[in-house]
Amino acid sequence: MPDSKRKSILILGGSFAGLTAAYELKRLAGEAHEITVVDKNEHFVFIPSLIWVPFGWRTIEQISFPLAPTLAAQGVRFLHATARWIDPARQTVTISQANGGERELFYDYLLVATGPHADFAMVEGLGPDGGYTVSICTAPHAIEAGRAWREFLREPGPVIVGATQEAACYGAAYEFVFNLEYALRKVGLRDRVPITYLTSEPFAGHFGIGGMKWAREMTEWFFRHTGIDWVLDAVVEKVSPGMVHLRQGRLHRAAAKNGRPEDLSGGSLPFRYAMIIPRFLGVPVVRDSGLGNARGFVVVDDYFRHLQHRNIYAAGVSVAVAPPEPCPSGCSVPKTGYISEVMAKYAARNILADIDGRPLVPKPATEIDAKCLMDAGNQGIIMLTDRIYVPSRHRKTELLIPGPWAHWAKVAFEKYALWKMRTGRVAWP
Ligand SMILES: Cc1cc2nc3c(=O)[nH]c(=O)nc-3n(C[C@H](O)[C@H](O)[C@H](O)COP(=O)(O)OP(=O)(O)OC[C@H]3O[C@@H](n4cnc5c(N)ncnc54)[C@H](O)[C@@H]3O)c2cc1C
Repeated sequence: MPDSKRKSILILGGSFAGLTAAYELKRLAGEAHEITVVDKNEHFVFIPSLIWVPFGWRTIEQISFPLAPTLAAQGVRFLHATARWIDPARQTVTISQANGGERELFYDYLLVATGPHADFAMVEGLGPDGGYTVSICTAPHAIEAGRAWREFLREPGPVIVGATQEAACYGAAYEFVFNLEYALRKVGLRDRVPITYLTSEPFAGHFGIGGMKWAREMTEWFFRHTGIDWVLDAVVEKVSPGMVHLRQGRLHRAAAKNGRPEDLSGGSLPFRYAMIIPRFLGVPVVRDSGLGNARGFVVVDDYFRHLQHRNIYAAGVSVAVAPPEPCPSGCSVPKTGYISEVMAKYAARNILADIDGRPLVPKPATEIDAKCLMDAGNQGIIMLTDRIYVPSRHRKTELLIPGPWAHWAKVAFEKYALWKMRTGRVAWP
């Protein structure tokens, strides 16, 4: 006879949010329930280190591990498959298995932790698949960006790094531009390469969250100090070979003394190497199944529970979060690895509370804190705030600590986070 108390908890996505939730469920519930993780990738990849892959400072092998044996060691079932369709009425998910064939999985509780879909199709010519720009959003993209980088070094020219209108991942773009600048200095090519940072943010250091105290001043100082020009309020019209065409944008030159920007509306910027992050959407399975908002992100209540389907939860980048401040050219909010883990722990605990008939514990997005390490090659900025998704004036703590320790901290954190994820120690900070 099936044990009616033993529930099937199905997790889509085995990255920061999905793995954390699986480990937390296992830690708290032991063998009481069956936990299954489905991911289209066989490996966990520490995405924050992808910024170093193009410059040869990390290989994918150094920053990843296989999911199947790792999860098996924790008593969690892993299926290497792509989720295609979620049917909330029948409580099933249809998956395409990596080794062929489709099958249906039943769930009592479903956790959506599928992260973002990088929407390169939003701008003609954008992205590495049929376009003219590179990306560092996934492991294959970062490898390809490295191949293009080595080619670029043989014949250097102007570089553009940034994020388009409606993008969310500005932190990664900032990290990449400063690491790229450092990489050029290391190979003695910096003076032959003009670098421009291109962003839809209304001011440098906005990050999609309205900035933080001193973030603008500090980011502008970094740009001027490293000789990087920056374009604000940018709306990219299209990309053609070697050229980014702008519908609008304001260019600030690092060397300009008067601080007045040049209007780039209708203009274009040349490049020999460009890494531009597009807007993020929810992934196809969420959009196709009608479980997301207009952008395909899952709207949840304060318990990370779907508004209509009470046994579906979501965590990480797949969750819809309202921007705390308006952004005229369209910015979305960042959802970092740390935030994804916080959401996943609450979602996991609330699934178990619901099963056991205990009260659920709320964690409104407006109460989530942030701990961020922004790397800039051989230095960087440590960023801490008590509440990230509220306007800056409503935060009690906003701390930015620049210096080489930010770089050392990121390197140390990379090792620690990989160890924590590999060994399931999610109760550790
Ligand atoms: C270049 C870069 C640098 C970054 N740097 C930092 C940083 O320094 N610090 C920081 O905190 N954050 C950083 N971030 C953000 C961080 O990577 C994300 O917050 C984090 O990865 C979100 O975790 P997640 O589990 O929600 O989504 P993801 O990590 O995107 O994982 C989603 C998982 O779902 C799987 N999936 C998707 N669709 C399906 C499907 N249909 N079926 C099965 N599986 C599916 C994917 O394969 C993936 O494994 C960075 C992001 C990028 C792109």
